[in-house]
Amino acid sequence: MEETKINYQKEQQKLLENLKNSGKKPTLLLHVCCGPCFTYPYELIRDYFDITIIYNNSNIYPKEEYNRRLNELKKYLSDINSGIKIIEFPYDNTTYNIDLEPYANQREGMDRCRICFRKRLGQAIDYADEHNFDFVGTVMSISRFKNSQDLNKIGFELAEGKKVKWLPADFKKNGGYEKSLDIVRAYKMYFQHYCGCKFSIRSNKEEL
Ligand code: SF4
Repeated sequence: MEETKINYQKEQQKLLENLKNSGKKPTLLLHVCCGPCFTYPYELIRDYFDITIIYNNSNIYPKEEYNRRLNELKKYLSDINSGIKIIEFPYDNTTYNIDLEPYANQREGMDRCRICFRKRLGQAIDYADEHNFDFVGTVMSISRFKNSQDLNKIGFELAEGKKVKWLPADFKKNGGYEKSLDIVRAYKMYFQHYCGCKFSIRSNKEEL
């Protein structure tokens, strides 16, 4: 029997309404994979949280691409005058790939990606918990290629029993994906053509 899908966009909306009514602005450690994926999620939640970014994306191959995405994110943060701090984790694609190699031939969206989510979100959640953030989340649900059910299930599971709370999200909903593309075009941002790992490199496909 198929599992019931949860509408994580609605879950987030309820949370944002509660925060608005409480008048509180909690801290949020936000995992960001690249500048384009940050654009619309940031616009949506910026008024509700005091945001710090974590950039722990050793999945990205090669190193030049990793730096390009990071620099594009930094440029966008500067263009919009956000003043947001980025916590950068050391880049180590070789070690990162050890867990992904057995699933090298899978297409995107299968076990390899769930392992990849678990690795990066696990790091972000541990860091957020150790550094007393109120919430932790990721922008990755903005992508049409990322399964929001998987992302949120993993996020909630890994945050269970910790002080930090998982921020539910499905940023692609309500035209979120299209809105992010509008911002990408307006700021002439670099827009990558594959998800990130060497197994996901493919030709002539747009990825966000
Ligand atoms: S396709 Fe993307 S999410 Fe999946 S394993 Fe590769 S980098 Fe990770």
